[in-house]
Amino acid sequence: PFEVLIVGGGPAGAAAAIYAARKGIRTGIAAERFGGQVLDTMAIENFISVSHTEGPKLAAQLEQHVKDYDVDIMNLQKAAKLIPASVEGGYHEVVLENGASLKGRTVILSTGARWRQMGVPGEDEYRNKGVAYCPHCDGPLFKGKRVAVIGGGNSGVEAAIDLAGIVAHVTLIEFDSQLRADAVLQRKLASLPNVRIITSALTTKVEGDGARVTSLSYKDRNQGTEHDVELEGIFVQIGLVPNTEWLKDAVALSPRGEIEIDARGETSQPGIFAAGDCTTVPYKQIVIACGAGSTAALSAFDYLIRLPAA
Ligand code: FAD
Repeated sequence: PFEVLIVGGGPAGAAAAIYAARKGIRTGIAAERFGGQVLDTMAIENFISVSHTEGPKLAAQLEQHVKDYDVDIMNLQKAAKLIPASVEGGYHEVVLENGASLKGRTVILSTGARWRQMGVPGEDEYRNKGVAYCPHCDGPLFKGKRVAVIGGGNSGVEAAIDLAGIVAHVTLIEFDSQLRADAVLQRKLASLPNVRIITSALTTKVEGDGARVTSLSYKDRNQGTEHDVELEGIFVQIGLVPNTEWLKDAVALSPRGEIEIDARGETSQPGIFAAGDCTTVPYKQIVIACGAGSTAALSAFDYLIRLPAA
């Protein structure tokens, strides 16, 4: 059994593992895919103190840093169920999909999230070649270019406002007949000169020249007509889904399925902590996930040293 058992091997889990191991306590980390979303990223230019890196390179460095310490890394292990300890200070149990089970006196949940995709032809082919999901990450790569934002909820409209200050032109595409973002955001968006809003539009395909995105097609749901928009970038903002389906009965989740945590990273269950994109943390970024993982590990250590001596 572990003193700290971490589930999830992205930036949050890696940071938690390093902070826990540096306290000299028995630490294990189980991950479906070590590296997490970072593996799917190309250019990373906002990991502070590293001007530029690439996802697979950063993922390898995260793993190497964890390996500098005595941490049990269990890669390619998917957790299926969490059974919280029945008594305070007892062991929590994590049941893996393969039937095996792991125990930890504290558990840190860092299973991250995934962007909801449009599911149209060209989206996969041009991911990181014009199709993007994170305006904070990739917005500056499209300076002076034309982009579309797919989705007129709060995140889509926020992204459009953010991007309008960087790129040449933004086309916002919403499936519904009206935007769903807060009125104040909609007013702000409507005041911007380089934004066009298209509602009742179903995105149908992404096209490119093999190397980069060149256009987007949508269908006008009222007229039934097809239209093309020439552009260089497409930001998909139709939802970020936390990987917490397996935790429904174990810890309190927000209405959006995010693990509810306090300022110390503790969940509704004593001794179970969480960090990164799977939680209610307001911004989902690598540097933020690293900070949150460190917080969760320090809180887990704090919890352990307060348990009565056995
Ligand atoms: P994740 O990175 O999602 O890691 C989750 C981990 O949990 C993975 O190891 C996963 O396999 C594992 N896991 C999930 N479910 C289970 C389970 N049931 N059992 C076991 N393991 C499980 N951020 C930036 O700061 N800068 C950028 O430039 C940037 N670009 C991005 C580009 C793209 C295309 C994407 C998708 C994201 C980008 N982000 C960027 C966001 C950033 O990647 C995330 O904020 C960050 O990776 C979150 O870290 P995390 O550890 O919370 O979760």
